[in-house]
Amino acid sequence: MKVFHCECGATLFFVNSLCLSCSRELGFVPELLDLVSFTSAEGATIETPLGHYKKCANYLREGVCNWLLPTGSDEELCQACRLNDVIPNLSEPENRQKWQDVEQAKRRLIYSLDALGLRVLTKADDPVRGLSFDIKQSIGTERVLTGHAEGLITLNLSEADAAEREKMRVSLNERYRTLLGHFRHEIGHYYWDRLIADPSEHEAFRELFGDERADYAQALKAHYAKPADPDYAAQFISHYAASHPWEDFAETFAHYLHMIDTLETAEHYGFASGPGTSRDFEALMTEWYSLTVALNSLNRSMGLPDAYPFAISQPVKQKLSFVHDLIQAARRASSEATFSSSTRAGPGTSELSASTAV
Ligand SMILES: [Zn+2]
Ligand SMILES: [Zn+2]
Ligand SMILES: [Zn+2]
Repeated sequence: MKVFHCECGATLFFVNSLCLSCSRELGFVPELLDLVSFTSAEGATIETPLGHYKKCANYLREGVCNWLLPTGSDEELCQACRLNDVIPNLSEPENRQKWQDVEQAKRRLIYSLDALGLRVLTKADDPVRGLSFDIKQSIGTERVLTGHAEGLITLNLSEADAAEREKMRVSLNERYRTLLGHFRHEIGHYYWDRLIADPSEHEAFRELFGDERADYAQALKAHYAKPADPDYAAQFISHYAASHPWEDFAETFAHYLHMIDTLETAEHYGFASGPGTSRDFEALMTEWYSLTVALNSLNRSMGLPDAYPFAISQPVKQKLSFVHDLIQAARRASSEATFSSSTRAGPGTSELSASTAV
């Protein structure tokens, strides 16, 4: 994530909706991947380098978003909020804060996907290949399972309760559990469907991750039935990744997003040398090793647990390289599709057309 700056010079963060230095309001313009500042007097016609923008309805009315959309749009919600199919029940007062935390993590996910050139489609854009989110809570015996199915990502709202989430993390013997991590994992399942559609890619996938045709339900049942193999890290990024090739891919994809976002942040603060999104894979990994060692040492100086509780073995590195190549290829395909569709002046056929033509 990059660092943002207000017109007044103050440093801003992705989630900010107010500059504490000059009291101007802030809004994120996804097409610019940037925050703009404005006065409340500007109301629904906020001036941006791309023309006039308005606040997302979840910004204006609910205070859970800080994104903007063009004033000319018929939509009321920004491109991130528009992906929601089910939102939490706001008659329960504590749900609003949880929803806000969920939306922050979701917007950070969408930012990374946009920055990588992986454009996200809504179900309205494409009912089959589009993406949507259900943010639900378990009611009575009806338990909500966090997961992905055919473009629908479901998140159990209890994951936004820090104490609940930590309890789950400990009981499942996990090293890392966050809202952002959940979204990055589930989107990995989504992109498996989108990016590994071709049978030739299935072969390359199976060589590294194993055969995904193995019975999924049975694999998960077996995984939870036996104690964690202490040597899992020799082959997998997490213990859960060992449960099934699909889970291995989703965990690896999530990890790749962790790396790219963290490297981008480090670059903006002067701790890394170039944008993670365009670097060659070996250079990216070299940078990543030294950054994470420093990151953990900083946390230990504060008496905190490691910020990066992972070790990357050679097989895991190969899997990350596979994800890197997959995303680079999708990015190239998307810019070619954007170019050819703009020269033909016809509609783009690729679902991965870049959100910003640069
Ligand atoms: Zn300011
Ligand atoms: Zn929004
Ligand atoms: Zn999964």
